[in-house]
Amino acid sequence: MSTPTLPPTVAAHLPTGLLIDGAWRPATGGGTFPVGDPGTGEILFDVADATPQDGLAALAAADAALPAWRAVAPRERGELLRAVFQTLIARIDDFAALVTAEGGKPLAESRAEVVYAAEYVRWYSEQAVRINGLTRTAPSGANRQLVLRRPVGPALLITPWNFPIAMITRKVAPALAAGCTVVIKPAGLTPLTTALFAEVVRAELAERGLPTGVINVVPTSSSSRLVEPLLADSRLRKLSFTGSTEVGRVLLRGAAEGVLRTSMELGGNAPFLVFEDADIPAAVTGAVAAKMRNAGQTCVAANRFLVHESVAKEFAAGLTAAFEALVVGHGASVGTTVGPLIEEKAVDRVDRWVTEAVDDGARVTTGGDRPRRAGWFYEPTVLTGVSPDSRIVREEVFGPVAPIVTFADEDEALTMANSTEFGLVAYAYTRDIGRAFRVAEQIEAGMLGLNRGMVSDASAPFGGVKSSGLGREGGEAGIEEYLESVYVAL
Ligand code: NAD
Repeated sequence: MSTPTLPPTVAAHLPTGLLIDGAWRPATGGGTFPVGDPGTGEILFDVADATPQDGLAALAAADAALPAWRAVAPRERGELLRAVFQTLIARIDDFAALVTAEGGKPLAESRAEVVYAAEYVRWYSEQAVRINGLTRTAPSGANRQLVLRRPVGPALLITPWNFPIAMITRKVAPALAAGCTVVIKPAGLTPLTTALFAEVVRAELAERGLPTGVINVVPTSSSSRLVEPLLADSRLRKLSFTGSTEVGRVLLRGAAEGVLRTSMELGGNAPFLVFEDADIPAAVTGAVAAKMRNAGQTCVAANRFLVHESVAKEFAAGLTAAFEALVVGHGASVGTTVGPLIEEKAVDRVDRWVTEAVDDGARVTTGGDRPRRAGWFYEPTVLTGVSPDSRIVREEVFGPVAPIVTFADEDEALTMANSTEFGLVAYAYTRDIGRAFRVAEQIEAGMLGLNRGMVSDASAPFGGVKSSGLGREGGEAGIEEYLESVYVAL
């Protein structure tokens, strides 16, 4: 099978089975499913296709490993994570090659993702020894109160394909630091990077004589069949999901029966506000960063460019020129700055929505088509004069398209920005400090990039409001998602 973008050392040693109780093994019944390179459309590997029975075996392993793992000293849990962090950085080329091979993003972006992913592991290696309870005298003075913290229990982690390594470490690192054990169901489109990461963790656990059932991985081509029995099993105590709001709702319903702790990192529809007092060249640079990472396939991608009518022409011209300077190509090719979309149907969707916007009166200033080449590509596209009612503005396009809508004043801008069920992130460019605070106070989003096109950091709370999710990943808050409180009155 062809593996054009993978170093032979990675390809030869990549586990393609299921990781259950410290051992890689085939799926029950021997089923597999193919994983392809979106930059060529070629199949890279066949991966074991976990059955519901395999999922339950993984949960049994996580459950069995829990007592020993939560008893491991916090310092030792932290040191394990620190060693994993160091291996991620030492093997950055291997991990980046895998991220590009199965996810398509340019190698430079894949390397940045590996560093970003590793930072979560480093941060939680440091947080493992900072899990704090509480002791105080009751307000009445009649007794003392003690609050103990303990791991919530075995956690099911379900991740999307757009950040194959970072979405994994954002969950695994705080879970392990807290003393939880995990079952990972990676995205079916990108299970290879997860496999290499899990092997690094497994090897570290084994070398240190720690329980290897702490981390289990069950890729599958039929997610709901695998996940439903897990959610119904009382051994599972926590569900952490990153993906679409649509699937998040299904999983929340499934989690209700077992009253599971849940963390939900869901879809977005980020507004990118450019006020009349903004530094326009800086806004253009920020817009490219906020829009074009992973060819627009990020949950924090700017989806709607809301620009004051007096600067819209200048901003559109700057963005058009910046998009025209981007180089579309295979992620592993030198010089590529925009890779493919994840699959053919994603290209079809983006193309359809652009056509609909144009039918509604929008003008294409650059792009607007599929380049003629193999793989699932779409041209970086700028649309002006877009109706705020167009689908491309109301829904997450998940592609390299920037629709520009104009506004007349700050009130209208904020009303437009907030008129969505989503609230993950927003961006605003202004040099007026009073306006900056008004936006920060009134925007309905869990995060705001103020004169910045990138917000995420392992040490800060990442997450959304409204239909964009529940809970936070990163920062002090991220580990709380895997801890519960036990109050002792004495
Ligand atoms: P998706 O919801 O289709 O899939 C996410 C994961 O859920 C995958 O592992 C998938 O196999 C699994 N899944 C799908 N249906 C399931 C079911 N019925 N039961 C159990 N599991 C199921 O999302 P995607 O296409 O992989 O990712 C894109 C979406 O993820 C976008 O909406 C994006 O905004 C969102 N996202 C959010 C964040 C965040 O932090 N908020 C980060 C990245 C991506």
